[in-house]
Amino acid sequence: MKRRTTIIISITLSMIIALIVVVTTARPAYVQNDWTEPFPAFRIAGNLYYVGSRGLASYLITTPQGHILINSDLEANVPMIRTSVESLGFKFSDIKILLISHAHYDHCAGSAAIKQLTGAKYMVMEGDVDVVESGGKSDFQYGNDPTQLYPATKVDRVLHDGDHVKLGDATLTARLTPGHTKGCTTWTMRVNDGSKMRVVIVGSPNVNPGYKLVGNTVYPSITEDFEKTFRVLKSLPVDYFLGAHGSYFDLESKYRRFKSGELVFFDPKGYKNFVDDREQAFRMELNKQKGTSKVAD
Ligand SMILES: [Zn+2]
Repeated sequence: MKRRTTIIISITLSMIIALIVVVTTARPAYVQNDWTEPFPAFRIAGNLYYVGSRGLASYLITTPQGHILINSDLEANVPMIRTSVESLGFKFSDIKILLISHAHYDHCAGSAAIKQLTGAKYMVMEGDVDVVESGGKSDFQYGNDPTQLYPATKVDRVLHDGDHVKLGDATLTARLTPGHTKGCTTWTMRVNDGSKMRVVIVGSPNVNPGYKLVGNTVYPSITEDFEKTFRVLKSLPVDYFLGAHGSYFDLESKYRRFKSGELVFFDPKGYKNFVDDREQAFRMELNKQKGTSKVAD
């Protein structure tokens, strides 16, 4: 009887341990609430439309020869992007070119599905190509974190800084703004509404928690790359300020004002404030890490 109790206890214990292991290893990808929350699709200006969710920005650039989509977002967001595109009266299958802001799962996990559904050509900046083609495994920071991986996606055209992406009457310019990822891309274009306003869609200037700016052996040029990014971002002429997340340019409050007819996305001052704020955050983190590394030495 005593032996039986011991066996039951040890079985129960091993079951509890197994459960703990399953719970801790099967941790789902981090998904912020607003990333998967629908947001109304709308025309920003001319042939440029917002088709993202509340938290993850996607843009549709339409032309008579087909459309360009920037950011496929999470796999779960693909049906939502499709609904947004169709709600504007466009065909999802007319998307001919797929671009991204950078190779993190919140902007590119849905790319394989969108390529399959539309046959779009996937065009990605050089430093991010191996990352998306490995499904995130070659990312310098998150490659070993299974929660940040996504379906590997073949790139059809490798982009370099200053390259143009053309379709119909639309021309976008890819500006390399690295650091956040090695191929992080800021997209610029002019809207075709007669005003020829200059649009900037910021890739990301953010130093994520855990990023090693000093002595990063996996990404030795990370600090120089962030420096380059701030030089590029400060040099860009900007009328319309947009970005990879709505939070960069205050999408929600701007959208409310936009609905009442204000030209809110025209915001050179908001852009300058954002870039200055992000540069200050980068310098603070760099100084902090330099201080820490001195102590460690
Ligand atoms: Zn990112």
